[in-house]
Amino acid sequence: MAGEPQSDCLFCKIVAGEVPATLVRETETTLAFRDINPQAPTHVLVIPRLHYPDAASLAAAAPTVAADVLREAGEVAELEKVDGSGYRIVLNTGTGAGQTVFHAHAHVLGGRGLTWPPG
Ligand code: IMP
Repeated sequence: MAGEPQSDCLFCKIVAGEVPATLVRETETTLAFRDINPQAPTHVLVIPRLHYPDAASLAAAAPTVAADVLREAGEVAELEKVDGSGYRIVLNTGTGAGQTVFHAHAHVLGGRGLTWPPG
């Protein structure tokens, strides 16, 4: 059920402490940890502790938690000192857009020039 931990979900396992992660920040509703395959000097994932398959379903079911994720993305950018130079928040949604983990997450990317449009 949406919002409930899923036994086959990698990010639920990180929330449960069953899979290790390099934590950057945590709150009552969110976790921020370093991406295992960084695409920029700063590449942090911000996730809700609750399981929703993507950002849109999170926002529909738990809008205050979705707002927490976005606020935390900004906090991470400040902590990593990429807020001044600019950073990108990415919400890949669906396999066609490159989503590989179906637990909502925001990528926070910064520390290098970021071109537009993304690939
Ligand atoms: P997506 O492709 O937008 O779904 O993003 C999933 C991200 O999770 C990718 O950037 C992966 O590198 C990252 N990832 C996969 N496994 C782990 C892990 O165990 N720890 C941290 N990041 C991970």
